[in-house]
Amino acid sequence: ARAQIGVTGLAVMGRNLARNLARNGFTVAVHNRSAGRMQSLLADHGDEGEFIGSESLADFVASLERPRKIIVMVKAGGPTDAVIDDLVPLLEEGDIVIDAGNAHFPDTRRREAALREHGLHFVGTGVSGGEEGALLGPSIMPGGSAESYTWLGPIFEKIAAQVDGVPCCTYVGADGAGHFVKMVHNGIEYADMQLIAEAYDLLKQGLGASAAEIGEIFAEWNTGDLESFLIEITAGVLAHTDPVTGGAFVDVVLDQAEQKGTGRWTVQNALDLGVPITGIAEATFARALSGSVPQRAAAAGTLPAHAGTWDVIDRDAFVEDVRRALYASKVVAYSQGFDQIAAASAEFGWDIDRGAMARIWRGGCIIRARFLNRITEAYERDAHLPLLLADEYFTQAVGDGVTAWRRIVAQAALNGVPTPAFSSSLAYYDGVRAERLPANLIQAQRDFFGAHTYRRTDREGSFHTQWTTDRAEVQE
Ligand code: NDP
Repeated sequence: ARAQIGVTGLAVMGRNLARNLARNGFTVAVHNRSAGRMQSLLADHGDEGEFIGSESLADFVASLERPRKIIVMVKAGGPTDAVIDDLVPLLEEGDIVIDAGNAHFPDTRRREAALREHGLHFVGTGVSGGEEGALLGPSIMPGGSAESYTWLGPIFEKIAAQVDGVPCCTYVGADGAGHFVKMVHNGIEYADMQLIAEAYDLLKQGLGASAAEIGEIFAEWNTGDLESFLIEITAGVLAHTDPVTGGAFVDVVLDQAEQKGTGRWTVQNALDLGVPITGIAEATFARALSGSVPQRAAAAGTLPAHAGTWDVIDRDAFVEDVRRALYASKVVAYSQGFDQIAAASAEFGWDIDRGAMARIWRGGCIIRARFLNRITEAYERDAHLPLLLADEYFTQAVGDGVTAWRRIVAQAALNGVPTPAFSSSLAYYDGVRAERLPANLIQAQRDFFGAHTYRRTDREGSFHTQWTTDRAEVQE
């Protein structure tokens, strides 16, 4: 018997993906650089389905039916290139190499172009959901050629998470589109987590509430519009007691956030494309600030706060304000992320269906949430929606909460509680809806010092004012 699909790289992710494939009835070829991982997979889980183990890459390739479909699940970066280089001479025209690791999309574009030269398909695939998702059903975001998806679609859609009978997998777009979308997914995840952290801080500082009490508030929120995996686990984390001290677990966790880099990639790309993703950027910088140890040590107790003592009078009204501010800020972060997808899609010719992206994020992945249905519906109403926030549902949802949002951001500022994501999202909201922005002055300044020219509100064309001489206006 020949295998229908293969997995090389059998650390936690590859091992679980291979098991998921086998459990779904596919015959899976398995290989790992060091044979031990392959052998232990067969020993521990060989009874879960049909596996064909190989110690050498050549045997692994030979065990696959054609066109070969090979998932590479190794450490991202150099190791991925090394494995591809070893594979290519063993493959034949039409074979499909799938990189399911966390590659940066420019690398995927480069690898896709190189393998296309050899008549091979290279499919950079975003896989979200971590270890558990890989085993039980991840959200899968494959890029590469549309032709490759005719082979991969039936397999990936079967092993993906299913929501209401719909698989959390769809063809995203050519070359690096899949890894790009996975990157933005992770960026949105950063924003979501930061917003939740700010809500927690506001409840803690405004109400003087304990972690357990705040956990109950999050559990309650998880029954409404905010229902999501991240809110659910937040409630669970806040309820957890530290076995060492007997106090709240979160209170003993060091407040320095780490990152593996996908948030940074997302922000770097947004700068390249000129898309304001302030929510994701502030979330990424907030992690950086938390880790700025010498700066924080120099500032703590030194920089004056001149803040009042926060005395929330109506507890329930305050909690509801924070909830509304959180929801509105979250909508902004997603709206910005979808803007970035639209901009990249235009830049790279990917033709990404944004509604479909929201659909395949409903299950399997970290940002899975009830409200993603609303995003899919918005793009069903208008596939070319220029701004998610301007969809009728979101206009109303955010509009209903905007007064609460302003109160929260104002109180946070008055009381010296940092809310970079809440505040910048509100500033974005007010910026994007403004009839007139102060960019007129920026243009005038640019023309003054650099003769960069400006356009006028009342006439077509480009103009320059001769600032240093007679201040006459000339048309360029
Ligand atoms: P690791 O990222 O820890 O990588 C270990 C695997 O890579 C091992 O199989 C190892 O082989 C192999 N490897 C490393 N270097 C080489 C090389 N030069 N040649 C051949 N094989 C090599 O594994 P994970 O399972 O944690 O992650 C796999 C991929 O999935 C990564 O790209 C990671 O970023 C991504 N990932 C995705 C997650 C998600 O939620 N989507 C979560 C976690 C990871 P050996 O055993 O011989 O050392």
